[in-house]
Amino acid sequence: MRMILVGPPGAGKGTQAAKLVETYRIPHISSGEMLRDAVKEGTALGVKADGFMKSGQLVPDDVVIGMILERIAKADCAAGFMLDGFPRTLPQAEALDDAMNKAGVTLEAVVLIEIPDQMVVDRLSGRRTDPVTGTIYHMIFNPPPADVVSRLVQRKDDTVEAAVTRVAKYHSETAPVVPFYDGKGIVKRVDGVGTPDAITARITAVLAR
Ligand code: AMP
Repeated sequence: MRMILVGPPGAGKGTQAAKLVETYRIPHISSGEMLRDAVKEGTALGVKADGFMKSGQLVPDDVVIGMILERIAKADCAAGFMLDGFPRTLPQAEALDDAMNKAGVTLEAVVLIEIPDQMVVDRLSGRRTDPVTGTIYHMIFNPPPADVVSRLVQRKDDTVEAAVTRVAKYHSETAPVVPFYDGKGIVKRVDGVGTPDAITARITAVLAR
């Protein structure tokens, strides 16, 4: 299965990907996670990406496209992959399309997780990640167990200011990839409001159709 998760920041892409890869047994490839690792490690790519990420801007296409195409060419992606956070612009979608055509493989599904704009800031400001397990929590909607609370971290771009920029970028840059994939008839729309388990059930149901 080769698939993409699309949706505004805070829609639950990362949370859902972590649950879905157990069912589909394919690697979860998060462009945001790869970029955050590069920033942490201080690689040339990380140094380039850091400022864009902190302010909620998109990292330039050439940087992200190279990173992802290299990743999906690895052996563990031969039977499929789940992309989360990529493509985020039309040029990224076109580059992925080209690369997949050249490799003779097809994209089966684009799952679009939809939440209203007014939910985004609430979701992002309460979001915390466990650096040990990578689990994503929300202090109100998906509360962490008491014994991990003290080690949870907040992403630098989960501030109100960066969140507002990220929503605006989603509408101006990322939303146009949806009609691109609609043209191929592979977009599956899922309501992203509800508990994480309810949304996983909706996604597995649309993918089974
Ligand atoms: P995410 O973890 O998907 O919310 O991504 C966090 C940040 O990483 C974004 O706000 C962007 O600055 C950057 N980023 C992640 N994926 C992409 C992408 N496909 N294109 C450009 N920037 C990206």
